[in-house]
Amino acid sequence: MEIMELNNLWGQIKAEMLEALPENAHPWVYPLEVSAYDKGTLTVVTGQIMGRDFLRKNYYSQITDIIRKVTNDEEADFVIVYDENAAKKLRKESEKLQKKANEAVLKEQAMENLSYMQSAANLNLKYKFENFVVGESNRFAYSVAKAVAENPAKKYNPLFIYGAAGLGKTHLMQAIGHYTIFNNPKLKVKYTKTEDYVNDFISNSRNSKDTIENMSKFNKKYTNVDIILIDDVQFIESKTKTMSQMQHTFDTLYNRGKQIVITSDRLPKDIPTLTSALCSRFEMGLMVELVPPDDLTRFNIVKKLADDNDLKYEEDALKYISKHFRDNVRELEGAFNKVCAYSEVTSQPLTLKLAKEVLKCNDAEADIDFEKIAQAVSEYYDVSVKDLRGPARAQKIATARHMAVYITREITGKSFISIAEFYNKRHTTIMFAHEKVKQEISTDKDLSNASREIRQALKLI
Ligand code: ADP
Ligand code: MG
Repeated sequence: MEIMELNNLWGQIKAEMLEALPENAHPWVYPLEVSAYDKGTLTVVTGQIMGRDFLRKNYYSQITDIIRKVTNDEEADFVIVYDENAAKKLRKESEKLQKKANEAVLKEQAMENLSYMQSAANLNLKYKFENFVVGESNRFAYSVAKAVAENPAKKYNPLFIYGAAGLGKTHLMQAIGHYTIFNNPKLKVKYTKTEDYVNDFISNSRNSKDTIENMSKFNKKYTNVDIILIDDVQFIESKTKTMSQMQHTFDTLYNRGKQIVITSDRLPKDIPTLTSALCSRFEMGLMVELVPPDDLTRFNIVKKLADDNDLKYEEDALKYISKHFRDNVRELEGAFNKVCAYSEVTSQPLTLKLAKEVLKCNDAEADIDFEKIAQAVSEYYDVSVKDLRGPARAQKIATARHMAVYITREITGKSFISIAEFYNKRHTTIMFAHEKVKQEISTDKDLSNASREIRQALKLI
């Protein structure tokens, strides 16, 4: 019989055997190979003695029936022989399989190591470059962070990322960490919140018999790394000791050629508690600002959230959400999640109508508009609206402007961005102005009187 014909025949028999015999017999059937079909006897070989005996003992007649059917020969018979060569071949294959399995285990182990390193470095898995939506407003900050991740301590050191809350500072900073751990696993990364750093320092430097040892451990922890990520440095305490400790950490790392990345909600010079020594160190490298994302980027952020979760949506719903949450990406995400949760719980599709119902954003322009408030403030403080909206920094004008910003935000609830646009100022400046008045108004009589009288003038109270 021709070899092709033989193989063909055997292929059919084997397929029928796999079909007919129970699964526990399959491991013995797979490695069988045909050797000859001669004078009504089919000879198959196996490298497994146990396999030969098992099939012979349990399925002899069933196999014979199959062979008779396929060969159309009522008298056909079969023998299974143990074959040394087949055994060798089998061993080789199983070694190959084992190796593959080992590789898979190693790979898994590498992934495990990676996730261990990521958790040891204190990173949130979501904050990666791949998950950061890039647009006009953040492209520069993104590119700089990427450059630092690709070339730590070579390009921009320190990298100082600043901007208001919820604009992606922590996200970008941790993305540098993830990128490094994944692409350059030999490098050690440490992420720390400034508060944790400060508390750690305070508890370790406390006088005790172990202070020296504790401080040495502390120093190691923060300087035995290749990249340090210090988040929200505006929370640094004004205590001299803490400052000089941070300066020490900074200098040690910097002198060793290690990468330092810092975030803050404002520029170093605007952190009142910061010593000039630390301030000048922070300003030494590159400072980049994260500003609120533009319309398209905000839309893309929400769209990515929806797409990543395989959600079906009406595009206008996403447009509506991104239109109304302009200051803070965290709040934008929160608004989106709220609508999603609602849509899920009530089994309604994610439509514009639903988004409107859930978020109830104030669509109509409020009766009291920016112009009217500016006018009332201008009359109360006796400064012109033009000055309020201009660059002048004189105390009187600044105070009036702060009040105008505060009242505008409190009354209209409009985004800081739109208020910033109206007053021709930066978004962060407007936020700080609002924050300042909000804090001081409870103790400052002049401010609270001003606020009350202006509201009266606007017929609001
Ligand atoms: P910050 O540290 O500036 O306060 P975060 O980095 O914590 O802000 O960001 C707040 C939230 O917004 C996070 O969930 C973050 O993933 C998300 N976020 C911010 N910017 C972007 C962006 N450009 N693309 C995707 N998500 C973003
Ligand atoms: Mg943050």
